[in-house]
Amino acid sequence: MDNCIFCKIINGEIPSQKVYEDELVLSFKDINPEAPAHVLIIPKKHISSLNELEKEDEHIISHVFMVAKEIVKELGIEKSGYRIVTNCGEDGGQTVPHVHFHLLGGRSLQWPPG
Ligand code: AMP
Ligand code: ZN
Repeated sequence: MDNCIFCKIINGEIPSQKVYEDELVLSFKDINPEAPAHVLIIPKKHISSLNELEKEDEHIISHVFMVAKEIVKELGIEKSGYRIVTNCGEDGGQTVPHVHFHLLGGRSLQWPPG
């Protein structure tokens, strides 16, 4: 997708601190971390938001969570705990229109979020 910052990270036009990659997903460190551990997990397929998710994308999204399960072990936050968040639309605070999952941990997180 032209002009999508996350598609540019996927194709290497914009550098990132890669945490994990396979044929379906990419994970990299968030450039503006909100917690000691803050990575993004994104599908390689450009999907603008959860609103645009199709039935055929189901396996990608479930794969995201299987990958997250492995990343939390590498980050050492499996036992202490963590949160996975997807922001959608204006009220949800989505700023990048390529669906992504924030994985946050390494500190005690507030609930409910602001
Ligand atoms: P959201 O506000 O939910 O759309 O999240 C977008 C996230 O992408 C924010 O946490 C940003 O800090 C992060 N972000 C934006 N540009 C980059 C980048 N070039 N590399 C890594 N993370 C980024
Ligand atoms: Zn994209």
